[in-house]
Amino acid sequence: DKPSYKWRRVLLKVSGEALAGDHTQNIDPKITMAIAREVASVTRLGIEASLKPLLSFMCSMAFFSPLESSLNLVAIVVGGGNIFRGSSRAGCSGLDRSSADYIGMLATVMNAIFLQATMESIGIPTRVQTAFRMSEVAESYIRRRAVRHLEKGRVVIFAAGTGNPFFTTDTAAALRCAEINAEVVLKATNVDGVYDDDPRRNPNARLHDTLTYHEVTSKDLSVMDMTAITLCQENNIPVVVFNLTKSGNIAKAIKGERVGTLIGG
Ligand code: UDP
Repeated sequence: DKPSYKWRRVLLKVSGEALAGDHTQNIDPKITMAIAREVASVTRLGIEASLKPLLSFMCSMAFFSPLESSLNLVAIVVGGGNIFRGSSRAGCSGLDRSSADYIGMLATVMNAIFLQATMESIGIPTRVQTAFRMSEVAESYIRRRAVRHLEKGRVVIFAAGTGNPFFTTDTAAALRCAEINAEVVLKATNVDGVYDDDPRRNPNARLHDTLTYHEVTSKDLSVMDMTAITLCQENNIPVVVFNLTKSGNIAKAIKGERVGTLIGG
């Protein structure tokens, strides 16, 4: 049975495909707003809003910040597949794989800026950090700085993947998760979790509640690429695969409630 957890620091991975929703354009603003609202509900902003009267009373009594321990620190890695996927475009008209991947990484920056704008529009403090320098646009990735932002209650959005061609943003999610000592990668997708067959083709496909890393790799379940899942395994990072299009799921996943498929030891 799938246990529930009390996560404190999470790495949310939002794929480009998830951002696109069923919108005809690349990014569906309804999806970015849904992400923003749910993240707000479990971070300082939402908790403070819901407890405003109580909080102002407690602050007037001049103690501590009473909610600090129940806050969730959220970092996000965004994908770029809704705009450009290097592996499937390499080879077209002389485009080599590395150049194609750089275009893919730039695509993730566009998604990150869109998501940041949406989050800030509802008052969530955010910082975008890119894996390569784009100093007019966003901060560069500096691990200690990212951690500091999180501790101050900001949502940090990591863009440009790992900064290297031939990798994916799933690998970036595993890497950043390990670097910032987050406890879990929450992989938001358009399906409910990991199935034993493609649920869009086979109505009898069964959803796995839990899986081991070994099951994922040996059965070649298309959860994440091999590099990403191996990085998670080597660093004992659990992965939760869940459906972001179901209202409430993002908040549940961040809080560690049962949702989707849990992959671990
Ligand atoms: N990419 C890359 N290095 C990375 C991360 C991403 O080269 O570390 C490129 C790669 O071309 C990839 C694209 O960026 O196809 C978009 O990322 P990804 O396909 O992982 O996005 P998602 O599937 O999550 O939308």
